[in-house]
Amino acid sequence: MACELKEKERVGIINPIFTCQPAGAQYASIGIKDCLGIVHGGQGCVMFVRLLFAQHFKENFDIASSSLHEDAAVFGAVHRVEEAVDVVLMRYPHVKVIPIITTCSTEVIGDDVDGVVRKLNQGLLKEKYANREVHLISIHTPSFKGSQVTGYDVALEAFVQTLAKKDQPNGKVNLITGWVNPGDVTALKHLLAEMKVEATVLFEIESFDSPIMPDSDKSAVSHGSTTVEELIGTANALGTIALNKYEGGKAAQYLANEFDIPTIIGPTPIGIRNTDTFLQNLKKMTGKPIPESLVRERGIAIDALTDLVHMFFADKRVAIYGHPDLVIGLAEFCLDLEMKPVLLLLGDDNVTYHDDPRIKAFQEKVDFDMQIICNSDLWELEDRIKNQGLELDLILGHSKGRFISIDNNIPMVRVGFPTYDRAGLYRHPVVGYAGAIWLAEEMANTLFIDMEYKKNKEWILNVW
Ligand code: SF4
Repeated sequence: MACELKEKERVGIINPIFTCQPAGAQYASIGIKDCLGIVHGGQGCVMFVRLLFAQHFKENFDIASSSLHEDAAVFGAVHRVEEAVDVVLMRYPHVKVIPIITTCSTEVIGDDVDGVVRKLNQGLLKEKYANREVHLISIHTPSFKGSQVTGYDVALEAFVQTLAKKDQPNGKVNLITGWVNPGDVTALKHLLAEMKVEATVLFEIESFDSPIMPDSDKSAVSHGSTTVEELIGTANALGTIALNKYEGGKAAQYLANEFDIPTIIGPTPIGIRNTDTFLQNLKKMTGKPIPESLVRERGIAIDALTDLVHMFFADKRVAIYGHPDLVIGLAEFCLDLEMKPVLLLLGDDNVTYHDDPRIKAFQEKVDFDMQIICNSDLWELEDRIKNQGLELDLILGHSKGRFISIDNNIPMVRVGFPTYDRAGLYRHPVVGYAGAIWLAEEMANTLFIDMEYKKNKEWILNVW
């Protein structure tokens, strides 16, 4: 009985769990108000990523491309960045922040994006846009290493490196949410409000769930709402809490090193235990007490879970794939619910997973066979089910793996990014006490439907 952490043993990828680094940088960019990213590469590097965002959120997002063609591979294409910046500034008079996001092709060509940013700052911006506030930020996201997760992490670091400036203390907490859904942001803001903690929620995407209003002028365009001023002010915060180690940890560490800001990285507040720790961390950082209202919410969540844990969840075997912080947080929650997360798939080649204290805790504590596969693809799951006799009661993961669930008659809860084959999942939190209730009840209801469908002990529901 052991928890084994290992690399996928095959070369190549069959059905990837993630897409590439520029996608993460694009997700970070659309979290900033008055920001429009230019992806320096072929159009497909934007087209497919925008499609994923649109599928997941059922909303539209503007992202630009420098749109390379064959000649760029031979002669380079920094001139296309110069033209693209000019076009974006002319077409979008409100834009203040333009990240230039590199791709595999432009990193291989060796286009000097940092140099072109310096040139534009000295030339075009001074000459043609002298009276306009514009911040150009180069973000290096070659797709031949990392994944959309590292791309998001690298982008956040680049934004704070470029924009954060030391000034007077602002008494706020920097809250770096990581790659979450609007429902998660709503749940986190609720916890902050109950604690009476003033926070800068960074790369704030609650408004990705945008309304259609009777007056069309008031209909919100889906876009993030973290302002340039808030990013500048991150250097003056009381402290930083980054909820996800791999999605914002670098930016939090930069602020700690550069501006001596107290910093706490993790845990992802999935489940009761991790939400408790998050609130304790807020209390430690701000001196604000945890109010009775949150103790009551916690109690309601524990009551909801108690109804389900032993009777329905105990010993259920679960496979989980997706973003590493989400997968680890879900596995911790499953363990607390007496489930057995027997297989975790982490879809990139991050070598630091071996040092993650949460993974070390799994290795020390689990009393069943559990595998954690790094650099994994979805074939690692499919092959184990079809050819190696892996028995599962439940799969947790995003929509890209749904055919494994369908083909093998294993119930599945959609969670993570992207989830486009179920309605409105972006609206439901997985974090906080509200997230614990939603996740547990979603898992239970999925198992109940499966029991009925397979006529397996569905009579239990008569007496529950
Ligand atoms: S792999 Fe390269 S070409 Fe393909 S989307 Fe990613 S950055 Fe663009």
